[in-house]
Amino acid sequence: MALFGSVHLAGLPQGPALPGAAALAAELTTHGFELVTDPAAADVVVVGPEAGPVALGAGAGAVVLLDGADVGDGAAALLATAGVGSDGPVAGSHAIVPAGIEGPDLLAWAGTPQLSVRAALDVAPPAAAALRIAGSPGAPGPVAAALVERTDDAAGRIAILGVDVLASSEPLARVVARNAIVWATRRAPAPAETARRAPELVADPAWLGLKSAVAELQELQGSDGAVTGDHDRARALVTQIAAHVASLAPRFPHDDEYLLALGKDLQRWREQGLGVPDFYDSLVAFRPELAREDGLRHLVMFPMYTQNGRTDRKVEAVLVEVIWPRFVADLEAGAYSNKLFVPIRFLDFTAGYDTNSAVLFPETVAMRQVPTFTWGAIFADREAARFRTVVSAAAATVRLPLPPDAERLLADQHLAEHTFVMWDLIHDRTHMRGDLPFDPFMIKQRMPFFLYALEELRCDLTAFRESVALEAQGVAHARLVQYAVFFDRVFRFAVTGPRVRNYDGLGGQLLFAWLHQRRVVHWTDNRLTVDWPRLPEAVLALGAEIEELYWRSIDRPKIAHWLAAYELVSGTVTPHPASRWAKGPDALPVSGPLKEMTDAVLADEFPLSMFHEALARKIADVVASTSGITG
Ligand SMILES: [Zn+2]
Repeated sequence: MALFGSVHLAGLPQGPALPGAAALAAELTTHGFELVTDPAAADVVVVGPEAGPVALGAGAGAVVLLDGADVGDGAAALLATAGVGSDGPVAGSHAIVPAGIEGPDLLAWAGTPQLSVRAALDVAPPAAAALRIAGSPGAPGPVAAALVERTDDAAGRIAILGVDVLASSEPLARVVARNAIVWATRRAPAPAETARRAPELVADPAWLGLKSAVAELQELQGSDGAVTGDHDRARALVTQIAAHVASLAPRFPHDDEYLLALGKDLQRWREQGLGVPDFYDSLVAFRPELAREDGLRHLVMFPMYTQNGRTDRKVEAVLVEVIWPRFVADLEAGAYSNKLFVPIRFLDFTAGYDTNSAVLFPETVAMRQVPTFTWGAIFADREAARFRTVVSAAAATVRLPLPPDAERLLADQHLAEHTFVMWDLIHDRTHMRGDLPFDPFMIKQRMPFFLYALEELRCDLTAFRESVALEAQGVAHARLVQYAVFFDRVFRFAVTGPRVRNYDGLGGQLLFAWLHQRRVVHWTDNRLTVDWPRLPEAVLALGAEIEELYWRSIDRPKIAHWLAAYELVSGTVTPHPASRWAKGPDALPVSGPLKEMTDAVLADEFPLSMFHEALARKIADVVASTSGITG
């Protein structure tokens, strides 16, 4: 099935007085749907008033658009299945509101639209009312949309819309229709488990032998990678590992130079007594950025630490597969070039990756000198899987009504992986771009952690901003990148990791508080809601604030930049009452070395808000469960 789903439009009346059908088709295709002519092949069929009987494929959904007057055979059959009757049109146009607080958010991105209603609905089980005309308190208005959720895999979801989509020139009517259509679209089947993606490789005796030899060798290595345990045994293991690499090498002809160099580095390490390893030669021979092809596989092995994973430099081996979808290749070849970026997924790995590490970076490898790095690889499958797991739990905990396309993103690993690849592509290149007051690669420098928070957030908000522009240009994943940045930052980053200089956590806290203070997100009646139409502008405003800080700071001394950055963050996120920084320059060692300024920052300078503290408590187990997760 198509990633966003395929749709068949059946029996939609066309004509100059009915602008809606063509506009609906355009609305769907710019958001990723593929239009198909065969209803049986569609993931969802839109059934108009003129449609005859429609045969749906197994699991395919249906959306009935009523126009009040005639109900064709196709619509009539679905109405009977759903338990919905049509009571005819309601004069005038009306504010449309949710019928209840449970269920999908069919009004997402539409606000409270004023729409005309061609058919008020008479709803009985299995259907449930989803939208109504706003009524007076205690007197709910007529039902304008109903949904049928079916648990049987063979039977798809049904949505029935009484709001006018076809005759209306109101764009929000089509936003509501698209929400209903996305909701009803057949769910994607779960992707094959990682281990079953490449069975011939993952179950190859040479790989299994390599993995177990590496696991045993790790036990004999010290934290700098030198062997500290039984040297005879370690020598034997390194010999075995080299033999396994050689026998796996024919499976990776595109990497023969690297795998040959790897064999030599292993041999030299063994011959020189297994001291601190040096895999410089094989590292410079590994060039995954030169062949970014979807599905291309690599065997990668180095003595290395893993970022956010294992701090010791041990030999680690991973089997990976490149993720390089067509639309990302097009973006990269166009306005978003990033020659170093290699998105990958796990096929199998050793212990250093059975952690929270989601990157494979050359700077983590043990080597005698530092070359110019030509690539950086990010495990989009792990990012997508933990995003889906944690955000689903968080959304349920705070009872957030999910827009149907966000629900789909959370349900579909494949869709989420591609979304993260697009996010990472833009995020990653942004570190090197813009009006930068200092070297954005701050890894080795020591500065207050809130500066790292702002830099990472700047890159994410740039990805968000570009995605708003790309959505308008019809890039279907662009809306999903906006969800991913928002949900991952606000729900997952903020409550992940220890409260010690947690810069990504602080970025999430800042984004949430910024949006809450602008009343774009609401925590009311123990329920989180989002004013989606206002979200992009508010997010972009925070991005602009950070960019203004950077630009101004080109002309500032570093210490003044740090103080201005603190002011930006603390203007929105409340610092700890014991903070010296919060008391301003007079309370700080501004005349001493900068290190003293950094040391004056509290480990948890910006403690979690009550909202995030409660959320963290409720989903801590889910967050912890994502260590080592793959697609
Ligand atoms: Zn970054």
